[in-house]
Amino acid sequence: MNLTTLNKKYNTQFKCLTYLEQLRWGKGRKRKVTCALCGSDRITKRKGTIKYHCNKCNSDFSVLYGTIFQDTRAGIRKLNCLKVNRC
Ligand SMILES: [Zn+2]
Repeated sequence: MNLTTLNKKYNTQFKCLTYLEQLRWGKGRKRKVTCALCGSDRITKRKGTIKYHCNKCNSDFSVLYGTIFQDTRAGIRKLNCLKVNRC
């Protein structure tokens, strides 16, 4: 898959983040979101955001926590996350 194909397939921030979540936490029945800070699986999705809330340590985090994209102000898609992620 080349860069043009990647940009067409993951052409929105939502698609890009969904893909990153699948890489980090799995998908389907194997999907298991765990807290990026304490590892707990007592997680609640924050509606309308990309964030999750940990009910154990009371922290909010997203799939970007602990990655090179964590503090970026540019949109994840602009950084071509998929290509960087595969390096
Ligand atoms: Zn936690």
